[in-house]
Amino acid sequence: MDSMKVLIADSINEKGIDELKDAAEVVVNTSITKEELLKVIKDFDAIIVRSRTKVTREIIEAADKLKIIARAGVGVDNIDIGAATEHGIMVVNAPESTSVTVAEHTVGIILSLARKISIADKSVKEGKWEKKKFMGLELNGKTLGVIGMGRIGSQVVTRLKAFGMEALVYDPYITEEAAAEIGATIVDLETLLKNSDVMTVHVPLTPETKYLISKPQFDLMKENAFIVNCARGGIIKEEDLYEALSTNQIRGAGLDVYEEEPPKNSPLFELDNVILTPHIAASTSEAQRDAAIIVANEVKKVFRGEAPKNVLNMPVLDPETFQQVKPYFKLAEKLGTFILQTAKGNIKEINVTYCGDLSKFRKQEILTRMMLKEVLNPVLTEPVNLVNANSIAKKRGIIVTEGKRSDAEGFKNLVKIEMKSEGGDVSVEGIFTREPKIVMINGYKVDVETEGTMLIVNYKDLPGIIGLIGTKLGEHGINIAKMQVGRKELGGEAVMVLKVDQIVGKEVIKELLKLENVYDAVAVNL
Ligand code: NAD
Repeated sequence: MDSMKVLIADSINEKGIDELKDAAEVVVNTSITKEELLKVIKDFDAIIVRSRTKVTREIIEAADKLKIIARAGVGVDNIDIGAATEHGIMVVNAPESTSVTVAEHTVGIILSLARKISIADKSVKEGKWEKKKFMGLELNGKTLGVIGMGRIGSQVVTRLKAFGMEALVYDPYITEEAAAEIGATIVDLETLLKNSDVMTVHVPLTPETKYLISKPQFDLMKENAFIVNCARGGIIKEEDLYEALSTNQIRGAGLDVYEEEPPKNSPLFELDNVILTPHIAASTSEAQRDAAIIVANEVKKVFRGEAPKNVLNMPVLDPETFQQVKPYFKLAEKLGTFILQTAKGNIKEINVTYCGDLSKFRKQEILTRMMLKEVLNPVLTEPVNLVNANSIAKKRGIIVTEGKRSDAEGFKNLVKIEMKSEGGDVSVEGIFTREPKIVMINGYKVDVETEGTMLIVNYKDLPGIIGLIGTKLGEHGINIAKMQVGRKELGGEAVMVLKVDQIVGKEVIKELLKLENVYDAVAVNL
């Protein structure tokens, strides 16, 4: 761990730097230029940036041992995630660092709208005393409508529940139970729009959420309604918002984000019933401190060989699923190593089926990546890891599919890998009890450990063949430690799996293949 080097290329909170000092050599150069970065990046294992430093493909390609690019914050527009993935480099950010901060800003805007604080402030500073003009509304007893109940949306709910509001939530991707836990009720968007006094959006900007709130939605809202957007510009259509506000169709709005940033000559500037802030919802020193501490810890995790929490280019497992899946890592690796050595020519397709208990886990993809890593690493010069395994397979035209089956052929769990390659198809099935075990090879039942050297011979099930093979191995000084045979029918094709004490060279394989009634012979080192 001492030999790890971290470059802090943008200014981050001191607490994050302190966090790293016991785990790595930390170089802070927050004014580093692109040219300098290109020269030095090869020496670093991790780089921490905010938004100033652009981690482009060119920088990534100049990096020799970079393992992680960390963004001390949320937006990662300055990082070429595709290039990082191809090179097996993790990209992490700290999305949770700003949740409370953004939620507080949202609540601030809502209070300011309800009590007209910002325009009252302006009026007093202009020497006026317009008490009647600034008659406000209480939040107590009103209905809050939250669109998107993720990290920020749920923080807004808990805060505004404390103001005595009833909370409705529109989020098709969460359960009623999750909403009920924080005292909110899930409704459809129409119900939310018709019944809320205060609405706030906390969804990502996606094709689905672009202009989610436009004229038809404003038409459903109450006359007294407020709406706030501290999420992303474009979720509320500004043109339609202007229309609704300027005709007093709704009571007020608050925006921290815009369709164009900074907004230029927006008609919204002329309105008194809108509060505009310059994309500062996430800007507090606490959020910056937390972002720095979070990413420093993510970097340390990667150095310790543990899985970070907020990886943007690798499946992330929650701790519970991670514990479920972890015992199968070794099985996936061993099956990958096995199948690669039995493959016949260029690999075209790999199908992985998770059976029995394994099929019930929420995510198995990490196991497929483990297996792919073993399949691809020995044949490629570029290192293949859990981050880039899928993208490298795809780049090489290998189709990878995953399936699930509740039946595990009498076992509690089973992983089946089928590989289609130019010279034919092969398959292997394995289970995990205390150690990984192979239980089926090309449809033949076996029971073999996944350690050491193995010779797999396909032959015609006739008397004397086993002896011939044993003699041939003996001639080459190869000792058989264990032998198993599997067959589908008497006198048909059979498979013999020999555990041997010595490496079986190509010459021996050639001689075995010359024996009459021997169809195939493959040596596998596990
Ligand atoms: P999150 O991923 O934790 O939550 C987003 C929620 O939206 C999820 O629960 C998801 O199920 C829901 N959702 C997705 N599509 C939806 C749809 N079509 N309809 C309804 N719900 C949908 O995200 P978060 O961290 O809470 O961030 C929320 C938003 O705030 C994002 O747009 C983020 O970019 C933005 N944000 C803004 C600032 C700022 O400075 N103003 C800072 C941080 C985050």
